[in-house]
Amino acid sequence: MSIQVPEKHEFQAEVKQLLDIVIHSLYTNKDIFVRELISNASDALEKQRHIRILEKEIFDDQLELEINITTDDTANTVTIQDFGLGMSRDELVENLGTIAHSGSRQFLQALAEGSEAKSNLIGQFGVGFYSAFMVAEEVKVYSRSWRKDEEGHVWKSDGSGSYTIETVEGQRRGTKIVLALREDRKSFAKSDTIKRIIEEYSSFVQFPINVNGERVNTQDAIWLKNRTEVEDEEYNEFYKFACKAFDEPMLRLHFNADAPLAINALLFTPSTNIEAMGFTRSECEVGLYCKKVLIDPEPKGLFPEWLRFLKGVVDSADLPLNISRETMQDSALVRKLNTVLTKRYLRQLAEEAKKRPEKYETFWNTFGIYLKEGVTGDFAHQDALTKLLRFESSLTEAGKLTSLENYVSGMKEDQKEIYYLYSENREAIESGPYLEAFRTRNLEVLFIYHPIDEFVMNRLREFDGKPLVSADQDEIELDSLTPEDGAEALSGKDADDLCGWLKNNLGDKVESVRPSDRLTDSPALASNADKVMTASMRRIMKNMNQEVPDMATKVVLHINPRHSLIRNLSALRHQNEDLAKLVAEQVMDNTLVAAGLMEDPKPMLNRVYHILEKVSESRPGEKAQRHKGTEAQSGEED
Ligand code: ADP
Ligand code: MG
Repeated sequence: MSIQVPEKHEFQAEVKQLLDIVIHSLYTNKDIFVRELISNASDALEKQRHIRILEKEIFDDQLELEINITTDDTANTVTIQDFGLGMSRDELVENLGTIAHSGSRQFLQALAEGSEAKSNLIGQFGVGFYSAFMVAEEVKVYSRSWRKDEEGHVWKSDGSGSYTIETVEGQRRGTKIVLALREDRKSFAKSDTIKRIIEEYSSFVQFPINVNGERVNTQDAIWLKNRTEVEDEEYNEFYKFACKAFDEPMLRLHFNADAPLAINALLFTPSTNIEAMGFTRSECEVGLYCKKVLIDPEPKGLFPEWLRFLKGVVDSADLPLNISRETMQDSALVRKLNTVLTKRYLRQLAEEAKKRPEKYETFWNTFGIYLKEGVTGDFAHQDALTKLLRFESSLTEAGKLTSLENYVSGMKEDQKEIYYLYSENREAIESGPYLEAFRTRNLEVLFIYHPIDEFVMNRLREFDGKPLVSADQDEIELDSLTPEDGAEALSGKDADDLCGWLKNNLGDKVESVRPSDRLTDSPALASNADKVMTASMRRIMKNMNQEVPDMATKVVLHINPRHSLIRNLSALRHQNEDLAKLVAEQVMDNTLVAAGLMEDPKPMLNRVYHILEKVSESRPGEKAQRHKGTEAQSGEED
């Protein structure tokens, strides 16, 4: 046998950073290292169970798939051993010396975002293996891979920047972690302490856990149980432990089916939308099992992409155990599971919306964006999803929501279309010119605030046979308004003449100009004459550098013959055509701004100055006259 010199390695910089935080953080709950190490052991056993199915040549194949923990309060050590798949030398370097793995990387990323206190974050993410250094002054990891032609190794570190690796003889398959406890962490060398922690965090682990030879956990695949046998608390604990969640579940769906497939599923809707917090795109964390054996913790294709926020377990006895991860996504069986599960989940949402609308609104506010994603991309579930959409509208209070079904049931008798308006928020829509026509006629308008909503509307095109129409569209037929008593308006002829003159002067900027019933308080609006694209979609396309036809040709200018600015303009063009032209151009630009179509406002600013200059010009003639008039008056009074 050759003499072995321990090989010294430096930790990757990120690992050092992480270790520093873990060791020095003020995080008081040191207990979690037990959960983390047991969870790693359980992962390793699960992987080994899978390897057993796929491979023939396995080292130490007769070993039980179990976790053995020993405590020694004289030596002040805790040892956690699993007969899992083990690690080779390279795997030890890769897995324990660098951050390539999921949990810790996410943690570091969250730290980089810098939004929350460190200690808080540690509570939310498991920091995995490195949590051992919260309690240990030295950590030794003995490991032997399941592959026959490997050797055993021991990895050693005090957590201060480097570690060593050397080979060891007589190592069993799997991993044995020995923690030499820090003086102030001695209590973890007591078996009662460890048992208590296991009870708290690890009671759902699917493998036997023995502490000093005594079995402490009960294997409990609660998803195989009957709903009536499981307490809320058990569910929540399962969610936290098995699904590695840090929040409470918002919704829970536990169902068992025999046909068309044997399914036992336990699905949790979290109460937090991780993606919206700025973390990377979440992966669906619903583990796929076959009779309690984990096939894949994050199976691709089990749920549609837009349900990637779900967590939980799906167990199907119909699944072949040796299905590989690669073929799974294409498997007809997984596709069938996907259909059944998605339908069932959507049914839960529909029931929730009906029975507990407030709770559903909370769901909608947290995860609605995913349902919209589904509407635009998943034709198979579009109908069910469409009914789950919620909107603010001109008839709801701010923050209150309505559905398309609700909208339709409240439609006026002769109303044929469903109207919606897009802008960045409620105030912008309510203060803009487009709502006026609908408000005066008591027609409900759905409010949408997100570009994806436009794609949703565009994709749906109609609901319940009624076209969905953007309220800034040009071709909307509305009842004509009965003029209010005393409301002055341009005569039909004057209005038509003004429109002709405006079109002449505005030229290519508008397709046409017409007097309109769409306005009550505003002088003018630009309607979108493009049937294919709404104004904001056009803007999005432009931002994405897509070729879009020149927008000026697609705008129709509506003028309000009752508005005093329009009436003034009709007169002004005979008295001072130059100024009238400036005003006309400015009115036009204002409507484009309101429509969100103004691309370069700078020329407009110059024009505004120009107009202001004219308005502020002293007009000696007028002034003198008015002056004289007053004098004359006062003279008479005298
Ligand atoms: P995570 O579990 O989120 O991947 P950890 O820091 O807990 O992160 O573990 C890092 C990696 O080390 C694991 O992904 C795994 O590859 C490896 N590992 C840790 N503990 C064991 C073990 N007991 N047996 C085999 N591999 C392990
Ligand atoms: Mg881990």
